[in-house]
Amino acid sequence: MLEKFERYPLTFGPTPIEKLDRLGKHLGGKVEIYAKREDCNSGLAFGGNKLRKLEYIIPEAIASKADTLVSIGGIQSNHTRMVAAVAAKIGMKCLLVQESWVPHEDAVYDRVGNILLSRIMGAEVHIVDEGFDIGIRRSWEQALADVKSRGGTPYAIPAGASVHKYGGLGYVGFAEEVRAQEKQLGFAFDYVVVCTVTGSTHAGMLVGFCRDGRQRNVIGIDASATPAQTKAQVLNIARHTAKLIDLGMEIVEDDVVLLEEYAHPCYGIPSEQTKEAIRLCARLEGMITDPVYEGKSMQGMVDLIKKGFFPEGSRVLYAHLGGAPAINGYSYTFREG
Ligand code: PLP
Repeated sequence: MLEKFERYPLTFGPTPIEKLDRLGKHLGGKVEIYAKREDCNSGLAFGGNKLRKLEYIIPEAIASKADTLVSIGGIQSNHTRMVAAVAAKIGMKCLLVQESWVPHEDAVYDRVGNILLSRIMGAEVHIVDEGFDIGIRRSWEQALADVKSRGGTPYAIPAGASVHKYGGLGYVGFAEEVRAQEKQLGFAFDYVVVCTVTGSTHAGMLVGFCRDGRQRNVIGIDASATPAQTKAQVLNIARHTAKLIDLGMEIVEDDVVLLEEYAHPCYGIPSEQTKEAIRLCARLEGMITDPVYEGKSMQGMVDLIKKGFFPEGSRVLYAHLGGAPAINGYSYTFREG
């Protein structure tokens, strides 16, 4: 489905699928849990889901003769870290708008983790005092104008690489990769659990899984705490991506399964249940999830298993999308372990 699109390789290749046996047993042993380790997908600055998306965006950035990648996110955005890494790798400059999306307790929040890595990789970091919003922002448009006024040529990559014409393609590729891995494993997964915020990861997956009618088995766990906006964005990106790849099928609203109850109290702040899920998975599997994204999808998966949402015997694939560097900004949250 993706052959006609140019791809600039930024990842190692297919990501490993690992069985989470101890977590599965701890949760009653009625379902099998696997993790697809998108967090281990590349040597670029600790990797993560954005690289699959950027693989289909970067060819246009290079062809446009841009000299600066411009993007936006919160202060501890994984996405902006990934854009900084890619800019370094392809020899472009990088300007990042980092907004104050998260009220934080740690004194070093704006100096460690993702933002630290972006600075080390040479990105110009602009901290802007604006709250959380997954839409197109004034500060970002200003950054693009700034690059032009200095005589540079910007290439714009929106938050999460989502609302970009090629933003959904990478995770269509994820679905194709899972299908190929299922052949080798000799079984198919019944559900995929994915953390959803700016939407193109979920959107790409559901388009990719339409091919075998599994789009509603992609269970999105909202971590934005603005689920109506996120759901609408997933649907838009999915519809656009379906057209782009000539899927030949209409995506309807019910194809977007987005569970809203795990994002509280707000984007970027973990609840007690999120922290418990992070500890549980770390202590049983040595697998690190973060308080902003994967901790919430882990919490969602654990809760759904406990509630019997997945029928007995189901094989559940947890998409681990990365994000661990942000945990450095949460030392206060975990000061007692
Ligand atoms: N998980 C991690 C680690 C992320 O960095 C992001 C980015 O926003 C997500 C999940 C959510 O992905 P998306 O923004 O494509 O919905």
